[in-house]
Amino acid sequence: MVVSRQLRSSGGIWIQYGETTFHLDPGPGALVKALSSRPRLIPSSIDALLLSHRHLDHANDLNIMAEAMTNGTTRKRGCIFLPPDALGKEPVLQSYLREAVEEVYLLREKNTYTVKGVSFTTPIRHYHPVETYGFLFSFPDGIVSFITDTQYHADLIEAYSGSDILVINTVRLEKGGFPGLAHLTVPDAVDIISNIRPRCAVLTHFGMTILNHKPWEIANAISDRTGIDVRAARDGMLLTLPYDR
Ligand SMILES: [Zn+2]
Repeated sequence: MVVSRQLRSSGGIWIQYGETTFHLDPGPGALVKALSSRPRLIPSSIDALLLSHRHLDHANDLNIMAEAMTNGTTRKRGCIFLPPDALGKEPVLQSYLREAVEEVYLLREKNTYTVKGVSFTTPIRHYHPVETYGFLFSFPDGIVSFITDTQYHADLIEAYSGSDILVINTVRLEKGGFPGLAHLTVPDAVDIISNIRPRCAVLTHFGMTILNHKPWEIANAISDRTGIDVRAARDGMLLTLPYDR
């Protein structure tokens, strides 16, 4: 509902380190938002498109971002990382674009991938109806992790331990309701944050129940309870490394 009404933008997350640029989960509006963003985000400069999983709110703009990354397929450059089932019987990436980029990599659990000297791992397969991975980037200035869509499982804590900045897709306010959605709730996020104890946690990917309860107040309450800097993401939010409170 949040995506279809665009109560929050769904264009995904840009990650830049030195000259290397990643775009994680180019959902609906990714291209339009990038072009209108300040500071400017230049789609033809993306080195890698990362897809956590094939659901539409994460994958909708994958094809147009691949077009933009390759200058309308005129320059063979950039790569795409996605779970194998994203190229299954209903592929989310068109075949001509698979030829247009330098490489398409299929994600596997506990693998490490490197793009222009920047490495990330997929520490665990998430608990979600389709094949889903999160990402852990080991930068010289700290470890930045993205716990993408998943149901809660205690294994997530070990998988993402050591994270300095932890971004958590926190969809629902409370447990119960629609268990089939397989998403993290606020109590799940509190559990993960208080066990991993990152220097900073960012909650994002909010559903209606969280938006209706002022996500920034939820984040402040978790900060008070855990002593950790917890923030609620907002559209256009920028976090820089090294992290400085
Ligand atoms: Zn999903």
